Amino acid sequence: MTQLHPSENPFVHVGLTAKGGARECGAGRTAGSIYVECGLSLTGVPLEQYLHDPPIPVEPAQLGLSSQGVTIIEDDKGVRHIVDMVGASHYPYPSDFIEEARLMGVSRKVPKTTDLRGITSASMLILVHARASVVNAAAVSAASDMICPNARHKPGEDCAGLHWVVAEENDGPGRRRLNCGTYELTPRAPGAPTPVLQHAFFMAVPITAMTVIANHDGSVDEAAQKSAGRAGVPVSVAHN
Ligand SMILES: [Zn+2]
Repeated sequence: MTQLHPSENPFVHVGLTAKGGARECGAGRTAGSIYVECGLSLTGVPLEQYLHDPPIPVEPAQLGLSSQGVTIIEDDKGVRHIVDMVGASHYPYPSDFIEEARLMGVSRKVPKTTDLRGITSASMLILVHARASVVNAAAVSAASDMICPNARHKPGEDCAGLHWVVAEENDGPGRRRLNCGTYELTPRAPGAPTPVLQHAFFMAVPITAMTVIANHDGSVDEAAQKSAGRAGVPVSVAHN
């Protein structure tokens, strides 16, 4: 299920945390909450290698995935991973999430009740989105200037590059705006078929840290710290 083991990637450092502050999912992180993180180095990581290319269609109900919260799965090697649904209300398209991650790293809230035992630096945070796979991928892709982020697919094939084809512009021609900046979309040919979208795994990133957000008075929620401490990755405390 996972594409890349952290040990194969020299750019990922255990203990590295993501950036705090405003994201598409809110103005700041919630005091007393736990966030699972993949911190990216400031020199920049080629994020493309963490994309499922092409995305892997999935039925959320089969995974027991709700629109909020996370599910822990175990792979055939006994490694546990966190599966998390990225809500389309905050991130309308997977490309919004990916472009934000490129700038800020990945930081996702985990309920305090989640059993984090068995989550280690070998674990991945696997991300699902309701618009991550194109049912009519061949037709949509053929009518686009799609560029495969991994240089494996051509227009006409299903590919992670379609995330930037199906997203709608909202910041002038061919651009989308996020709280953290704007990014460029890939042009669709005039008369291109309307994309039909479905749930899919679109990205899996190594888990480099757990962060507990301190309370406003500077204290740290004990239950949150205890729960985060059950994971076998570094735990840090942040103030936003
Ligand atoms: Zn591709």
